[in-house]
Amino acid sequence: MASWAVMTEQVVWISPRATGFTVVCERCAELGETFPSVHATLSLDHIRSTVDCPRGHQIRVERDGR
Ligand SMILES: [Zn+2]
Repeated sequence: MASWAVMTEQVVWISPRATGFTVVCERCAELGETFPSVHATLSLDHIRSTVDCPRGHQIRVERDGR
């Protein structure tokens, strides 16, 4: 496994069959945003993606399961 040296990286896990989901941006939450979530979609063909929140923070999305 790679070592996660980048402290700011955010990773969220979604369920195996999720194609649309809402993730909370922890960075925005730390900044006091009242609505820090961002909606994203990921087709079932993909096991990972990245999402940028409205403030430009990158959130990595990983599909759970196999
Ligand atoms: Zn953010």
